Amino acid sequence: MITFASFVPHSPILIPEVGKENLAKLKETIEAYKDLEHALYSSKPDLVIVISPHTNKGAEFFTINQQPKLKLNFKNFGDLVTKLEFDNDIGLGYQIKESCEDYFPIMLTSNKELDYGTGVPLLYLMEHLPNTKIISIGYADLPYQDHIKFGELIRKQINLADKRVAIIASGDLSHKLHKDSPAGYSDRAQEFDQTIIKLLNNNQIDDIINIDKKLVSEAGECGLRSLLILLGAIKEMNYQPEKLSYQAPFGIGYLVENFEIK
Ligand SMILES: [Zn+2]
Repeated sequence: MITFASFVPHSPILIPEVGKENLAKLKETIEAYKDLEHALYSSKPDLVIVISPHTNKGAEFFTINQQPKLKLNFKNFGDLVTKLEFDNDIGLGYQIKESCEDYFPIMLTSNKELDYGTGVPLLYLMEHLPNTKIISIGYADLPYQDHIKFGELIRKQINLADKRVAIIASGDLSHKLHKDSPAGYSDRAQEFDQTIIKLLNNNQIDDIINIDKKLVSEAGECGLRSLLILLGAIKEMNYQPEKLSYQAPFGIGYLVENFEIK
């Protein structure tokens, strides 16, 4: 059963060795991550599933990594210090893939190294769970409804496996919030972030699925599809959404949202 669900950002600036003095600008996000870490630990997971936008960006198929050992480092960001390794639950990953094949394209992959969209949440959330297995999932450039369906199928397999499972959806909101945002500025960026936050906290999942596609493309986000898989997994459950933090000091929206499972 699903015992924990959250939506978290993955700014490389959150990596202490990378962010350095800029870490202070993400104080609220880091505090929220610490709260989540406690909640995750208390949920006693057998397994943690992480959904990331950056495992196979732009692919027209979902992915599940089947490499038995998954290495985490941030050397692409100049951090040669941070190194972690996790065991992969390849059995359940395979079951999930098999159950999805009739509905949409999905591929097994074999990447030894985790992408930073998976790595940043694991760095913050697994401190006291170093031996807990993980599954690394990548979303696809496919319709939103496929992401919801994927989440539903993941939950079904979790329940069949009779394990306590945490699901973490990794993603940032708009990348175009400030005039000096690296991705450029959009005057609809703020509208996108505030709309997502409001709909999440009012539990209006159907309105998120049907969100104006023009608004989404204007916003330049990477988190919506991760979030949709998570919502697909928990939408039939009894849960309480709670915004733990929202910050955008570098022109990118970082939301930490917990979905407390009742
Ligand atoms: Zn991203």
